[in-house]
Amino acid sequence: MFMAVVKGLKPLMDDWVAVERYQDFKQICKKYHLYVTPNCIFRNVPQSIIEKAEGKEILTTTKSQAIPFDPVAKDSVVHLYISGSKEVIKEAPKFGWYTLIVDDAVVSNPLMDNLKYGLLLGYPKCCVRFFINDTQGINQVYEAYKNTHGEPSFYCNPFSNDFHYFLIHNYPCSFRCRETTKQAKELLKAIKEEEPEYAAKIEYHLKLPLLVFHIRDAIAFEGKISKGEIRYSDSYFLSFPNIGKTPYKKFLEGNRVRVTKDKILIFKNETLLHSLEKSREDDGFLLKFS
Ligand SMILES: [Zn+2]
Repeated sequence: MFMAVVKGLKPLMDDWVAVERYQDFKQICKKYHLYVTPNCIFRNVPQSIIEKAEGKEILTTTKSQAIPFDPVAKDSVVHLYISGSKEVIKEAPKFGWYTLIVDDAVVSNPLMDNLKYGLLLGYPKCCVRFFINDTQGINQVYEAYKNTHGEPSFYCNPFSNDFHYFLIHNYPCSFRCRETTKQAKELLKAIKEEEPEYAAKIEYHLKLPLLVFHIRDAIAFEGKISKGEIRYSDSYFLSFPNIGKTPYKKFLEGNRVRVTKDKILIFKNETLLHSLEKSREDDGFLLKFS
């Protein structure tokens, strides 16, 4: 994403940087003629605060305590905005905020701010509109999957977007979204010019077969997908321990996974090791981007 902003392909990004490295980071941005503005410091939030909040069900996946930016704060990370445009960097903090807890009540950020922030980040309008209704209980990536007519394109793969190999930071409205594909293609071309080996690795990883549970909860496999199953030699958990609920370790024991309407079966060769019940059809589905 940083390269996309440097190359002028993306108007704005946000990031988290250790406070003690903030000045160094600012220098790097200056070198590339980018503006940086700190938003606030993010700290771990005690679970007890979340538990007693009225309306906690609508909190987003990012759960942190926000405190005003202090340039000498210790052991802290600062959330910041980066842009090549003076106007955009001024607008970002107005709209880029999370649903939050004030006293004991959850205050939801207005849909209008989400929409404006998505557009400021350069996300395609079709995708921002598709995801604007962040309705609880809806598996948005499954909705995007259902909205995909034809083979999913790796340019629209959002599942490793917190790891090393990714081209898009938005969740696409379909895995063949025209605008997302266009943006991702431009970025891959730009990365190829600077770091061809990295570009090749990105493409390789984005084409690995996946078992998807939810946004930020999927497993990528080194292997082949065919007829409702994946034969694999290795796997990567595309999530974080505090977000992904998948019993990932069980997959490390096997080399074959079969997905049916109501079960996920993990095999080691012909031996069934684990049978996981699916709570609903979209709670674990196979996906392959080409
Ligand atoms: Zn779209």
